[in-house]
Amino acid sequence: MKTARDRTELVDDGRASGLPWHARDSAGVLGALESTEAGLSEAEAARRLERDGANRLPAGAVRGPVRRFLDQFANILIHVLLAAAAITAVIGHWIDAAVIAGVVVINAVIGFVQEGRAERALAAIRDILSPHAQVRRSGRVLSIDAAEIVPGDVVLLKAGDRVPADLHLLGANALQAQEAMLTGESQPVDKLVGTLAADTVLGDRSNMAYAGTTIVHGLGHGVAVATGPATELGRIGTLIGNVERVQTPLLLHFERFARQLTFVILAFAAATCLFGILYHGAAVSEMFLAGVGLAVAAIPEGLPAILTISFAIGVTRMASRRAIVRRLPAVETLGAVTVICTDKTGTLTRNELVVQRVVTANGDFRVSDEDGGGGIVDSRGADAPPDAHPDLSAALDGALHCNDAEMRNDEGRLSVMGNPVDRALVLLGAGADPLSDAATGRDPTLDLVPFDSTAKFMATLHRGDGDGLRLYVKGAPERVLEMCAHEMAADGTRAALRKDHWADRISALAEAGLRVLALAETVVEGDARAKWQAPLEGDLTMVALFGISDPPRAEAIDAIVRCREAGITVKMITGDHAATARAIATDVGLDAPERVMTGRELDALGDDELAAAAKDIQVFARTTPEHKLRLVTALQAQGEIVAMTGDGVNDAPALRRADIGVAMGVKGSEVAKEAAEIVLLDDNFATIAAAVAEGRTVYDNLKKSIMFILPTSAGEAMVIVLAVLSGQLLPITPVQILWVNMITTVTLALALAFEAGEEGAMRRPPRGVGEALIGRFLAWRLVLVTVLMVAASFGLFLWQLDAGAGIDKARTVAVNMLVAAESVYLFNTRQLEAPGWTMKGLFGGRAVLIATGAVLLMQVGFTYLPVMQTLFGVTPLGLIDWAAIAAVAVLIFLVVEIEKLAVRRRRA
Ligand code: ADP
Ligand code: MG
Repeated sequence: MKTARDRTELVDDGRASGLPWHARDSAGVLGALESTEAGLSEAEAARRLERDGANRLPAGAVRGPVRRFLDQFANILIHVLLAAAAITAVIGHWIDAAVIAGVVVINAVIGFVQEGRAERALAAIRDILSPHAQVRRSGRVLSIDAAEIVPGDVVLLKAGDRVPADLHLLGANALQAQEAMLTGESQPVDKLVGTLAADTVLGDRSNMAYAGTTIVHGLGHGVAVATGPATELGRIGTLIGNVERVQTPLLLHFERFARQLTFVILAFAAATCLFGILYHGAAVSEMFLAGVGLAVAAIPEGLPAILTISFAIGVTRMASRRAIVRRLPAVETLGAVTVICTDKTGTLTRNELVVQRVVTANGDFRVSDEDGGGGIVDSRGADAPPDAHPDLSAALDGALHCNDAEMRNDEGRLSVMGNPVDRALVLLGAGADPLSDAATGRDPTLDLVPFDSTAKFMATLHRGDGDGLRLYVKGAPERVLEMCAHEMAADGTRAALRKDHWADRISALAEAGLRVLALAETVVEGDARAKWQAPLEGDLTMVALFGISDPPRAEAIDAIVRCREAGITVKMITGDHAATARAIATDVGLDAPERVMTGRELDALGDDELAAAAKDIQVFARTTPEHKLRLVTALQAQGEIVAMTGDGVNDAPALRRADIGVAMGVKGSEVAKEAAEIVLLDDNFATIAAAVAEGRTVYDNLKKSIMFILPTSAGEAMVIVLAVLSGQLLPITPVQILWVNMITTVTLALALAFEAGEEGAMRRPPRGVGEALIGRFLAWRLVLVTVLMVAASFGLFLWQLDAGAGIDKARTVAVNMLVAAESVYLFNTRQLEAPGWTMKGLFGGRAVLIATGAVLLMQVGFTYLPVMQTLFGVTPLGLIDWAAIAAVAVLIFLVVEIEKLAVRRRRA
């Protein structure tokens, strides 16, 4: 009997002979899918997209709004509050119950709204990172959203790609894929063009590349045979991830802390009431209400939501500064980064590569034209037409052919796709008239060894003039030089290689800050594939060196200064030549740029020496991705928190190992992006610095929220504790405390989550990893503020009684005093250390101003609305009372500011 699965297989493959895809040859597959090597037409692709649906896996169940709202109540803090409300209602104190319920509802609504915003922001961010793929349609290579791939599309693959759909391979060049996702096998497997037996198992189908697997080496292309849910990955029921909940170790830690605190508070409240009943003989029901008020006020129910919101706001702000956070915990780690290890090309430099010099055995040519095409002069400044210089002509030919960039005549304009080095060389090779036949009609590449950042060269094979084939190699000059035995003389003939001469020219170009590439060629006879090895082992003819400029980014220079002020060390780790690295390091203003260590020197070091070098040296050249991994590990062993950039497939281990892996959004491979914590949309070093600044702000804002919530909650609770213990009349009734708690926690504390970064945030050293969120100074401030608030409320209460006021009026003054104290303390907290009395400190934060304004309005309503007066037992106040409250509030503000001043003095 056939299972459902077998049936779908038959339906999918049943368009022609019923054979599975891997058992057919390329022509058979293309025929069955009505496609060709040149790919589908746009119109046909659009039709199939309509018919077969997007190349996307079904999303997992999303949390609906109802679920999300109910989740707001799934929290022990809220359970305690609900229980308190229920019990108070049962014993008939319905106002108290209503106010407690009000807190719960307001909290839930705010949590619901903000969490919804956070989830939407995260989803939008995920969309920005949706994978792209290169396809060939009507013979042109296009980069499209991977979701738009349809069966029959010809998809191009290169190292670092994630295979976007199930493909039958039409071409494979040293292609290797890692298929652990499907087969569990973690070793890369070779991928080849061919036809296999029908019963070949998934893991052995070497002529197929499956969606979800990754290309770790080589180049290839294939025709899509299945997309979306019809792929092997889709069939095993894989869903794309749900929207991520905002969750990080720090948030979890605080949730735990808040839970534990709740139990402590409950025990404390119970003990206080018992004391009141047993020692002072207070009424049980009165003490019960006091206990409820105390507990509800002290429980920091707003904290989890506020911390979550701070994170979400941080992530959104980073996205607007073009840094996309892929893993949320990175937000808290970012602020602690002590070392940033960065690439050079495109990150510190503008990635606008232009060939400026072509150096041959006996010639030194300069490219005078701005964009690198045409206008070549010799060392004396005379025009140097390639026709008159066989060596130059050979160099330009090689630049054009030994190249991975695609050239296209786009309605009369040349467009070039490919990596910047290859683009620069194609533009040079194409010469003054880039749309000429010579330029667009390149000799086809018969075979090629793709560029790889460990090998540092690429090679191509073309039909030659006679019987032979022409082989070009281009890459890092030392590597290419090793493969040569000859050099090309000015007249185009072969001469003996002068190694030292070339070495001198290489250094000269590199010291000028130019990226140097060498080009060599040879003619091979007979069968191409058999001839690959021998020439690469030492019989090539050196043709030319290319000196390529890539100016530093102005904003990277600024960012390096900012990092230095922020106590962050910036290291450059590049695959480039030592002298080029030194020149660029000097230009961008790195520390000690003259001390450059090469990958080879690094290899020779023992563990201790490596540790010292990793710390002391800022510029590493001619490195491979394995060196990045060793350096991160060495730095981490010394307690550094390391951010590391990367783009290629080989960079993934170092990115994963780093505390913050930073992948390049433009030139980075899918694999690198997936391994990274952060993706830079603009590949720009300055963006990393901006992300660090935002990370510090998030952490500061968490600290501020906690610094606000803890003493205000404690202050509210202590007013009651003190009254019960001393046997005094309660200066604020339980229901009044509940009111204060309701209007302040969410409004005032939430405002702090929206605070912009402090100016000083990037002028202090990174925080230590083990450093407590609330250090000694802040802990002391917590106590100070609690005492100030209790003293103010209690003091004014007693003063009113003393002056002959009724108990209701005295209480009204005390309540307003408490709220006023919290409001001014909010302005103290906006800046943890910097003074709060500046214009910016007082009027700089919109959210804070709105929140305080709202609270003041509510207090006015609370004091003067007749219904409030009946509900809460308050009475109107006179001008004198308000003046007294305001004066004490200002005093509290000043005392806290003096404390901050003392802390600053101590630090300095
Ligand atoms: P970086 O750290 O500057 O990004 P890469 O790993 O990209 O360094 O490049 C290392 C070296 O490999 C370069 O200095 C250059 O000599 C060589 N190289 C870079 N790109 C290519 C290419 N497309 N073809 C051949 N060689 C290249
Ligand atoms: Mg690179």
